[in-house]
Amino acid sequence: MNETISQHFTGTVWRPPYEAYSVLLQATVSCTHHACKFCSLYGSLRFRMATRAELESDLRLIARYQPRARRVFLVGANPFALSAGRLIRLADLIRDYLPRTATIGMFARIADVLRKSPEELRELRARGITGISIGTETGDGPTLAFMNKGCTPDGILQACRRLDEARIEYYFTYMTGLAGAGNGLRAARNTVRLFNRLHPYILSVVSLTLFEDAPLAADIAAGRFVPAPERERLEELRELVAGLDVPLTLLADTVSNPVPLCGRLPEDRARILAELDAALAAADEATLGEYRRRIVHL
Ligand code: SF4
Repeated sequence: MNETISQHFTGTVWRPPYEAYSVLLQATVSCTHHACKFCSLYGSLRFRMATRAELESDLRLIARYQPRARRVFLVGANPFALSAGRLIRLADLIRDYLPRTATIGMFARIADVLRKSPEELRELRARGITGISIGTETGDGPTLAFMNKGCTPDGILQACRRLDEARIEYYFTYMTGLAGAGNGLRAARNTVRLFNRLHPYILSVVSLTLFEDAPLAADIAAGRFVPAPERERLEELRELVAGLDVPLTLLADTVSNPVPLCGRLPEDRARILAELDAALAAADEATLGEYRRRIVHL
């Protein structure tokens, strides 16, 4: 008898660090947008949904090894692109196999949220979709437009207001260096203005790390985009940390952060700013730049 011994995963699997203890289930492959200039996460992979057979096969396997799973994280660049009806049926299917599942998380784009009605969002919350990760990257309008993020600061505001009303938590990503050389402080200030009107529970900070296959490489070659120096990125992060006055957990400790930082705002603000000031005082552009050039994978 042939027995399935591995789950279906296509391409590289991405999940936020804070989902490390969640069960992973591939719900979609790649991204519906696939157009952000800095992104090379999914290469030539086209978006598709997991088939029912794939989902059931994976859930059978998970149920055998982790029958008491409490949180399931749906893998894919933006499974929240699925219609509310599909997500509800998927939540029901997950509970058929994993009846103890309390909550379900996934990545989402702002457009995925805006396509859902307030009633649908409330229904998704009731089915356990209580927290989603959104790669906002910045709240700076010109940067969102240049990078083809497919959303605007106003769209972020509208979408997150709807999530607040539905009591679905959202976790943001911010990317230092994304605005290009000379624009980091502007990006941080515009982001602070926007995020201070919202309620992100977690803010993951990464820093632009470009690989050759990202469309942005052509903009750099043509002189349309100049990467920010490492020192400017630290100053940008400092501006962000100093300005945010909504309570959140700050996680800036991925491989793309040469100076790893973590803490709660506002409680740990003074410590984090002191760590950033010390890093800025010691910052050596050549060493930090070499660190980034040596990153082979995010
Ligand atoms: S950054 Fe996210 S939304 Fe943009 S193309 Fe990459 S996976 Fe898709």
